[in-house]
Amino acid sequence: MENEHGQRYRTADEVAEYSTPFDGKCWWCGDTTLTGEHKFKRVDLKGLFTSGTKVLWTDGMQVKHVQGPNSDLAKFRPNLCAECNNARSQDSDRAWDLFSQYVHANWDSLADARRIYFRDVFPKPIGTHATELARYVLKHFGCKIAANDFAVPSDLLAYLNGDESSRSIQMAAFYSHERAARMRARDDDARSIQILSNGPHIMTASRSRGIVVDHVTELSVGPVGFLVKWAADQQADTGFWHGRYLTLYSRGDLPYPELHEPWPSL
Ligand SMILES: [Zn+2]
Repeated sequence: MENEHGQRYRTADEVAEYSTPFDGKCWWCGDTTLTGEHKFKRVDLKGLFTSGTKVLWTDGMQVKHVQGPNSDLAKFRPNLCAECNNARSQDSDRAWDLFSQYVHANWDSLADARRIYFRDVFPKPIGTHATELARYVLKHFGCKIAANDFAVPSDLLAYLNGDESSRSIQMAAFYSHERAARMRARDDDARSIQILSNGPHIMTASRSRGIVVDHVTELSVGPVGFLVKWAADQQADTGFWHGRYLTLYSRGDLPYPELHEPWPSL
């Protein structure tokens, strides 16, 4: 897997020499009393289990059957404090809940959509919900970076702390037709199938500078997800969160398809 500069992306294990040992502190504020953030929102999981849906989990490398909403598969190693995990991120958690509910209800019909309009997802006034949705995706990314023993970039923190844009972060919403096809082809007992995907975390490092220079991952609900990239040297200002809608790219047209494979045989 290579980026646009021809550098090969690597997993956390392969660039472990650039990692920072976990210091036992909240990566957002530095507090030392930590709680475990869910990789998938409890509300997502609870809704799925009560409806009898078969829930599969994949990190892009392996696939597992999630037995219940408290499964360890659904949690990161604790790396946020209760204040940051709850009160401080309440608005972004709420925005993700609404987005996720919308996708659960509409994933099949979104297959032909080029956009997801925020007015269909969020109650009025729409206000800052779209920004908060982006902040949720980035909070999740921060947990993943920290859980893999890497330093969360300071400008990612700045965005979570209220910056309106970030030149080092790019995010694209996508629809995976391949995954939707898998979800439609449910098995004999005719229960519906839902896939929650917490994509692998890949990165490149600069040997001369001795640092990680980009981090990439995905976060999805069923066939809809976000590809997120932080790059130290990027000068983009392409945040999707200022418009009235998300552009929904076909996953097959986005870079790093390996993040989203291999697919489970359902
Ligand atoms: Zn904190």
